[in-house]
Amino acid sequence: MTGTDDGIATTRSPEVAVIGGGIIGLSTAYALQEQGVPVRLYEAGLPGTGQSAGESRIFRHAHDDPRLVAFARESRGIWDEWAEHFDVELVSSDGVLAIGDSALARLRVLDQVGGVEAHEIDAAEVAQRMPLLAGYSGPAVLDESGGAIRTRAAIKALTGALADAVTTGEVISIDPLADGTVEVRSVTDRAVYSKVVVCAGRETARLARSVGLSLPVRLAAHVRLTFDVKAAAPARVACLQDSSGVFGEVGVYATPLPGNSSYSVGLSDTVGVRDDGTFIDPAAIRSLDERAREYVTRALPGLHPEPRDFLHCWVTDLPWSEDGVAVWEADSVFFVAGHNLFKQAPALGRALARAATGGGLRAELTPEARLGEAQG
Ligand SMILES: Cc1cc2nc3c(=O)[nH]c(=O)nc-3n(C[C@H](O)[C@H](O)[C@H](O)COP(=O)(O)OP(=O)(O)OC[C@H]3O[C@@H](n4cnc5c(N)ncnc54)[C@H](O)[C@@H]3O)c2cc1C
Repeated sequence: MTGTDDGIATTRSPEVAVIGGGIIGLSTAYALQEQGVPVRLYEAGLPGTGQSAGESRIFRHAHDDPRLVAFARESRGIWDEWAEHFDVELVSSDGVLAIGDSALARLRVLDQVGGVEAHEIDAAEVAQRMPLLAGYSGPAVLDESGGAIRTRAAIKALTGALADAVTTGEVISIDPLADGTVEVRSVTDRAVYSKVVVCAGRETARLARSVGLSLPVRLAAHVRLTFDVKAAAPARVACLQDSSGVFGEVGVYATPLPGNSSYSVGLSDTVGVRDDGTFIDPAAIRSLDERAREYVTRALPGLHPEPRDFLHCWVTDLPWSEDGVAVWEADSVFFVAGHNLFKQAPALGRALARAATGGGLRAELTPEARLGEAQG
């Protein structure tokens, strides 16, 4: 501690501040630490309890934009690197099954990029790789090196590695100073950094407004339900993306939890909210919940039809794609926004760390590049 300023403690600052301890902030701070850069990460609550909450996410390579496929492939390699380093499973090895015509369209994008082990499979292999699914014989693609991300293990490993670099406290202001540095004020602290990276989830757009940036982030609400498996947990079970309509819905994703004895299911539809987060129609979230249960009854007879628990969370997406991601830069401060980012966190964290240490922002991450948008 180096002094006080109107009762607020002033600490000797590391070089870079990261704001937000979700998977993106943790990955960024860890990448900085790997480079030997002094870093402080501010988290208002507990790491991994915002949009990164819950026990599982899907890692899939399939996207509409070949550049995002390549980005995911890079992230996949780093997930493996981390799994070896931390000696813990971070992505399951049971693959991702995508069913419906759009799975075939995305397979063409995967083939165009190359280097991803994905191929069409028949009804017998669908039943074998996804034993909880009702009979299905339409188009089906298996991403062999996709799988369920062990989210809690990832948050725990990164938080542990960062140790004292993680500070509990809400950042209340970010102020770029005339000398090119940035003042950060949290509830109990004032510090000055050479660069700041804002990974604050639903709060990122608000913090960006304080430096004059207006991010085109759309805020929405979402619910995901977890159902127990009726019989013994299957030894292998893939994640599922269903755009087929065969079971009455055209946008469903589902992912096993560690141990395979329960499975989380959500619709890709979200519920509209106002800028302040209030629901436009509070009944809409109930409707999403009911549609997910009805889907389980029709499509996933291997699951108990009553959910064991719920995950309610905010979704922040960009107008050009539900998988879109971009980084805005102003006065030594970087702001990252997008959706479906858990899988991309390792490569995104390294890219943000590079940008924050003077290596430049990768061209595909600039807002003008509209990463995630279908090409052609
Ligand atoms: C139900 C659901 C299913 C999903 N499925 C997938 C999937 O299958 N695959 C996938 O890749 N992605 C998926 N996603 C998206 C993915 O989880 C998110 O994109 C990702 O977790 C976002 O991480 P983040 O670090 O940007 O944000 P967050 O996890 O929200 O982290 C932001 C953190 O910043 C902190 N914070 C905010 N303001 C401040 C402040 N002023 N000062 C200090 N700290 C602050 C918050 O407390 C929070 O912890 C899903 C999301 C949900 C909700």
